[in-house]
Amino acid sequence: MAKIFCVANQKGGVGKTTTTVNLAAGLAKVGQRVLMIDLDPQGNATMGSGVDKRKLELTVYDVLLESASVAEALVHSEKCGYDVLGANRELAGAEVELVQVERREKRLKLALVEVNSAYDFVLIDCPPSLSMLTLNGLCCAHGVIVPMQCEYFALEGLTDLVNTIKQVHANLNKDLQIIGLLRVMFDPRITLQQQVSEQLKQHFADKVFNTVIPRNVRLAEAPSYGLPGVVFDPSSKGAQAFVAFAEEMVARIKDM
Ligand code: ADP
Ligand code: MG
Repeated sequence: MAKIFCVANQKGGVGKTTTTVNLAAGLAKVGQRVLMIDLDPQGNATMGSGVDKRKLELTVYDVLLESASVAEALVHSEKCGYDVLGANRELAGAEVELVQVERREKRLKLALVEVNSAYDFVLIDCPPSLSMLTLNGLCCAHGVIVPMQCEYFALEGLTDLVNTIKQVHANLNKDLQIIGLLRVMFDPRITLQQQVSEQLKQHFADKVFNTVIPRNVRLAEAPSYGLPGVVFDPSSKGAQAFVAFAEEMVARIKDM
């Protein structure tokens, strides 16, 4: 049975997509069967996995609106070693179209039942909002991975996300929990980042992942080649950190 994780943070540009595609590639590299779902109409995780969003005939949009199954809509990324349920601009319309539909927040959950046994991990890249799309992700997930930069305002935004997750846990999905906070784009030379990192550990204790993802230019360059950094430059510091994070996740799910 697959363990399903949302990569979520309602802030944009915090590293959600980078985390999703590199964790997916890292997990594939250590032998895990992975499905990556792009729930952001920007389609960055799709493109960053070597799948051209403009050429997709079926996407997660069709799955949410029940005009395709997950198996029909997914594509395998040969270069990255995992399957991709892609997204493109069409997905932005789903928000409105789902308004009419019953149990609209459970669409993705129901669709994933048929592929559950085919994967060890399902990773969902969420859009930068707490929208119906993100809610669909949260309703099917066992846990949320929250990438965050160690800066002052990061902590403020966290309160909203934690409250949303509590509400979903109470009303819609009893399995849901924050698996962990992932410190990303970390620069140890910056004192403020060290201080925020310490505060995070004090407040959230073992909810803070041991692995820290450094700021690394190779991770930022990789998407323009349609690849996760882990595949683009495996020897880079960023890639190595994500493989270590993949190993940490494999160890974590053993206790779940
Ligand atoms: P989000 O999905 O939350 O909007 P992205 O993953 O797209 O965030 O990251 C935002 C930007 O930061 C991108 O240009 C990405 O390449 C860059 N980036 C993300 N993580 C790192 C990192 N560890 N080091 C350097 N650049 C990074
Ligand atoms: Mg993104």
